[in-house]
Amino acid sequence: MIDLHTHTSCSDGTDSPRELMYAAREAGVQMVGLTDHDTISGWEEASSAVAATGVALVRGMELSTRFIYRERPLSVHMLAYLFNPDDANMRRHCVRMRNARIDRAKEMVERLARDVDITWEDVQEQAGEHGIIGRPHIADALISRGVVASREEAFERLLHPRHPYYVRQYAPQTCEAIEWIVDAGGRAVCAHPLAGHRGRTVPMWAFDRMREAGLFGVEVNHRDNPETERELLRSYIERLQLFPFGSSDYHGSGKPNVLGEYSTDRATVDALAQGAFLEVLRP
Ligand code: AMP
Ligand code: ZN
Ligand code: FE
Ligand code: FE
Repeated sequence: MIDLHTHTSCSDGTDSPRELMYAAREAGVQMVGLTDHDTISGWEEASSAVAATGVALVRGMELSTRFIYRERPLSVHMLAYLFNPDDANMRRHCVRMRNARIDRAKEMVERLARDVDITWEDVQEQAGEHGIIGRPHIADALISRGVVASREEAFERLLHPRHPYYVRQYAPQTCEAIEWIVDAGGRAVCAHPLAGHRGRTVPMWAFDRMREAGLFGVEVNHRDNPETERELLRSYIERLQLFPFGSSDYHGSGKPNVLGEYSTDRATVDALAQGAFLEVLRP
């Protein structure tokens, strides 16, 4: 089993990077991709657990981007693998996103605080000192105050883009981000493009554009892509010679997603690693 999309407490997951590696071993996953949102701060700790766990590690990150569709920005998550962590564009992206996320979360908390019991300190506490802040941390703060019972309920009732508490945040253009990743010697894979419950979904023609920018693959098997649409997605991207990926998007206890619930082919991983800036770390 190869699961290349996971999160830790360095962003909005609940396991530490070390715990993720042990959880992967427990789940029978032979190779994990660590893809925290807009940060690589978990790489070192996860790397140091490769030998002890026997689990191979693909160092990665999930970038928030926006794709202009019908004159409005559509949120697109882009997975970046095996890139040079010292690359200037990639570093700048992380700094800018961290700050944008703080400003945006503060604004959301301000709006929420007019109607429900929540403070900025609550959210900071949930995100942890070095964590990247996202809506899941606002959800966790709402849970700790007894406003909602779960992250799902928080998103459903308060945090979804359709609610007045939602604030949009800065994100680079999707194709620009792909170019950064490729320039940094990495591989770009479009995450859960058909996740309708998060908002609008990616239209098929967008993959033609992303391919021109250097896209390597697309997540086909992901629980947020409706099963009935996966075959169409698969045939579309294979016609463009893009690789299909399958992964869990594990967030620890923050989401029901289970490690290894979907897998990516070994041949795809070999192609991913071929010529990339970083190596896959193997036990
Ligand atoms: P943000 O980066 O602040 O926009 O928050 C996006 C994060 O929230 C992503 O990591 C998603 O996995 C998570 N998310 C989105 N929708 C839901 C939901 N309905 N329930 C739980 N988590 C969600
Ligand atoms: Zn997440
Ligand atoms: Fe995502
Ligand atoms: Fe994710």
